[in-house]
Amino acid sequence: MKVDYLIVGAGLTGSVIARMLSDQGREVVVVEKRDHIGGNVFDYTHSPSGVRIHKYGPHYFRTQSDDLWRFVNKYSEFVEYKPIVKIWDGQRFWHWPVHIEEIAPFLLQQSAAKTQTTMEISFEDSCLSILPKNVYNKLIKGYTTKQWGIIPNRLHSTLASRIQINSSRDYSLTPNCKYQGLPKEGYGSMMNKMLAGIEVITCFDYLQRKDELGPRKGLVYTGPIDAYFNFSFGKLRYRSQRRVHHYHKNMIWAQPYVQINYSNYRTKYIRAIEWKHLPGTNHNCKGTVQTFEYPFSPDNGDILEYPFPDDQNIARSMQYLKLLQSEKNVYARGRLAEYKYLDMDAAIDNARLLASRILRNK
Ligand SMILES: Cc1cc2nc3c(=O)[nH]c(=O)nc-3n(C[C@H](O)[C@H](O)[C@H](O)COP(=O)(O)OP(=O)(O)OC[C@H]3O[C@@H](n4cnc5c(N)ncnc54)[C@H](O)[C@@H]3O)c2cc1C
Repeated sequence: MKVDYLIVGAGLTGSVIARMLSDQGREVVVVEKRDHIGGNVFDYTHSPSGVRIHKYGPHYFRTQSDDLWRFVNKYSEFVEYKPIVKIWDGQRFWHWPVHIEEIAPFLLQQSAAKTQTTMEISFEDSCLSILPKNVYNKLIKGYTTKQWGIIPNRLHSTLASRIQINSSRDYSLTPNCKYQGLPKEGYGSMMNKMLAGIEVITCFDYLQRKDELGPRKGLVYTGPIDAYFNFSFGKLRYRSQRRVHHYHKNMIWAQPYVQINYSNYRTKYIRAIEWKHLPGTNHNCKGTVQTFEYPFSPDNGDILEYPFPDDQNIARSMQYLKLLQSEKNVYARGRLAEYKYLDMDAAIDNARLLASRILRNK
């Protein structure tokens, strides 16, 4: 097989790059280790309920960019959707993101906590510089400890950038974001359209079978960066979630919101999702499906979800990315190759930038 570009991975990053190169007349082939395309955004329809499930956890699309919104709309019609996510602390529901109205009673304690914090070094320190301690303890500490499996003050402070205080009248997950929605026929259908006419070989692990592939001008790799270099600096750590699905065939609804985050230590799962709240499912379908997510540390390369936000792993990922610079015509992009949490819009943006660069260079 002789192609211009071999793309490893049929997730959003690989598929966007493949589409853009192919549209400009480059010969591309995509190889994908899993038995389906779409990477982490893959979804499927549960039988017998007919409920659409996001296999790798709920994926809510959002972007502030007009251009990116136009781009994704070429591959799917989108239904506007603003997810409502709540936190259950063991006693009551709270808004997520934290809302100013709810934390106002604790704000006096916040200034006390602030004066005690001298340096913003850890995740916990950073959180306490914006949230009252009571609120941090109730809503963030337990959830974060369960999610990462270590005490939060050992996590990198950058992780706290995702914690914001909402002061608007919009109580959805990403208040005031310009575009928020889901592909009308699901992500699977959107990804099929994006890859239409491009050769995609599934169940093909590039790292195991690269000798079977012929010459090409360039390689775009979207898999884990440590595996690409055979873990020469050691394995990068991830945290993932085991998903346990419950089909309640005689229930109409199982929970009041699409997603509930559990911040109390007693509950072992961290999130519960009821898929029927997402647009696209007929609410009169048979029963409902609820999914509970239990965090764990994976040692299997198929289920790598969140890069581990501590100094050691960030430094190790830098070593790999530096090593990559010595590889000729090899580009590493995407959440696994860059060892970085990327929202879908950021992943698409990065992919578009790389594809444009490749097209400009050749
Ligand atoms: C639990 C979770 C929830 C998320 N929710 C949201 C959300 O609500 N909103 C949002 O905007 N973003 C969300 N994201 C982020 C979103 O998943 C990413 O932006 C997106 O997956 C990035 O796509 P990617 O192509 O870089 O990576 P991936 O989707 O992981 O694609 C990489 C592909 O490469 C393949 N691959 C790896 N190694 C090899 C190999 N050796 N040979 C062949 N193929 C290989 C993999 O099988 C995979 O299909 C979430 C992420 C997680 C983990």
